[in-house]
Amino acid sequence: MHPDSVKGKYTMNDSPITALKGVGSKSAQLFAGLGVSTVEDLVRFYPLRFIPYEKMISIEEAHTGESVAVCASLVRSPHTIRAGALKITEARIEDFSGKLRCVWYNSPYIASGLNPDEEYVFAGTLVSKKMGIYLEHPLIYKKDEYASLAGRLRPVYRTVKGLSQKLISKAVRAALESYAFGEDYLPVDIIERYDLPEYRDACIKMHLAENISDVNAARRRLVFDEFFNFIYSISRLKGEGNKTESGFVIDTSGIAEEFTSNLSYELTADQIRTVNEIFCDISSGKVMNRLIQGDVGSGKTVVALMAMYAAWRNGYQSIIMVPTEVLANQHLRTCERIFAGFEDKPELILLTGSLTAREKDAVRTDIASGRPCIIIGTHALIQSGVQLNNVALAVTDEQHRFGVRQRQSLSIREKPPHVLVMSATPIPRTLAVILYGDLDISMIITKPQGRLPVKNAVIGAKERGKAYRTILNEINAGHQAYIICPMVEESEAVDAENVIDYTEKIKGIFPENIVIQFLHGRMRQEEKDNIMCSFAGGSTNILVSTTVIEVGVDVPNATVMMIENAERYGLATLHQLRGRVGRGDDQSYCIFVRTNDSEIAKQRLEVVGRSNDGFFIASEDLRLRGPGEILGQAQSGQMHFELADIFNDAEILKLADDCCRYVETEDFRPDDDELIRFRRHMEDYRDKRLINLSI
Ligand code: ADP
Ligand code: MG
Repeated sequence: MHPDSVKGKYTMNDSPITALKGVGSKSAQLFAGLGVSTVEDLVRFYPLRFIPYEKMISIEEAHTGESVAVCASLVRSPHTIRAGALKITEARIEDFSGKLRCVWYNSPYIASGLNPDEEYVFAGTLVSKKMGIYLEHPLIYKKDEYASLAGRLRPVYRTVKGLSQKLISKAVRAALESYAFGEDYLPVDIIERYDLPEYRDACIKMHLAENISDVNAARRRLVFDEFFNFIYSISRLKGEGNKTESGFVIDTSGIAEEFTSNLSYELTADQIRTVNEIFCDISSGKVMNRLIQGDVGSGKTVVALMAMYAAWRNGYQSIIMVPTEVLANQHLRTCERIFAGFEDKPELILLTGSLTAREKDAVRTDIASGRPCIIIGTHALIQSGVQLNNVALAVTDEQHRFGVRQRQSLSIREKPPHVLVMSATPIPRTLAVILYGDLDISMIITKPQGRLPVKNAVIGAKERGKAYRTILNEINAGHQAYIICPMVEESEAVDAENVIDYTEKIKGIFPENIVIQFLHGRMRQEEKDNIMCSFAGGSTNILVSTTVIEVGVDVPNATVMMIENAERYGLATLHQLRGRVGRGDDQSYCIFVRTNDSEIAKQRLEVVGRSNDGFFIASEDLRLRGPGEILGQAQSGQMHFELADIFNDAEILKLADDCCRYVETEDFRPDDDELIRFRRHMEDYRDKRLINLSI
């Protein structure tokens, strides 16, 4: 419930959406699949983007790849065929200039009520696919209805099969009408000072914008709210004094020398500085809360391991938590490799989902015994009730969420452990300082010496042959390759490469002795692991995979990555994916296959093709985003902002930060009612949002 609605009183806000006119139980079920169940949810179910209603053109003028609106009538009534699980409905339409095919997926009734003698407006994208040239999933409007919309903006919502954009729009309108907005929780003072629209107006405009400046103003307010609520609450937490808590004292003398003398490479200056900062913290007697920020491949793991080794030397346990089992196993192998040459090796304990129940119990008992060791596991398992009795250091890897809350979800007996969070999200220090206000920050900026920058190429589908030759050359030189496909298996609705068919296809292209395996998220954990192991061990030459390998995977011998349908990924994802190569001393290559001719696809791929710099890529993203784009990028998604994008909304982030300081000054003088609303809202936010972040 939005905290402005009157508490205690019955309001529409918490009602199930079936209370709204025109929303039946069937649509409600579909909405539930989108996480929308109450009227409030619907009000906050912001569109993904807005697109202008197209100017009407004649069929003759329509070009493939464009979104078009044509005024036409049905040549004959629509018919539906089944193709596997898919229902494909087809209709032919015509206007004075020509005829056109329309295709809808799984919407057999969409065109059924149409009068064959009347003209309608069909608005959709003209595509050229396996089934020929057709208008894909056009929306249908009455002629005069469309005339009143032309030139305005159409919201596009996230949806599921069976739930049309029209139906969502209608439900949202009904929700906005019955929603009790109450008074704004931000005092007038703040609204004026930062030139923000009121919450209510912003919310309404976010769905019913008439033009781009409406969208921008509304979005500005909502993004401001997201940042402000977050920073304000985090800074409160910090004020509550984690900093001064007394923690484990870890004696670090001699550790760095001992550890590095066993390493096969020299640490970089940034790595050394980071180790020093960590060692300073963990020997100080106060609890460490530190973030290591470093782009992919900058060498964060070894830094964390040194600290873990120090904890072990002092007779303590330490844990490293990772998001996937593949990563947990990889870290185990890295530890085994690094510690191989040590006289005295720490005991390594792996805790992942694929252990049997009995094995898990045994591991849990081991951990609870408090025996000094290094524990490697997935977040999920370590956070589910393992007794941590002697853990002096907790590391979270590839974790873009918030460290400070993490600790509270661990079952810790006595003293709180030192916390180290490792993130590859490329944000400038100034922003990191604001967002991770509760953490101290170490940055690893320079990559290990001798690393050659990855060479990039953006190619068209016709040039695949060249790419395969590059891959084969690398394999012949003793290296390995990744090929990334967007899909797991064949789908009629999506025209993109899939891991399973692709693997078969290239087995026929590469010589027989080349070992090709595939990997995707739907495989059993054990299977995934075996495949990763055999790739890491060098016995697989080519790994065809979905983005499951996006985070953290480290196989330095892999020197080529080929990304199919590269235009389908966000720039941040492409950058993370590419981070899987260029991890050793050899020259690496990344080949982006572009299968879409649109100008924007070209420009976006040019950005990753031209630069290996995460900061640059993120900032170019801003430039290339259309004015109607609303939702933040994946990288802020990981930070749990709905709309806000840490990079692209940096200016608003700074305003919100400024506001957090302003409300602490004498100048901020809300009246009593305002203050009560403000406080109540912030408490509510903290209870609902911050606590939820802990898993
Ligand atoms: P990330 O920061 O992305 O987690 P990793 O810690 O996985 O990166 O390191 C990437 C690769 O670089 C690993 O293979 C690691 O062994 C290697 N590496 C780390 N530090 C150095 C260094 N100082 N010199 C050479 N190689 C290094
Ligand atoms: Mg890593």
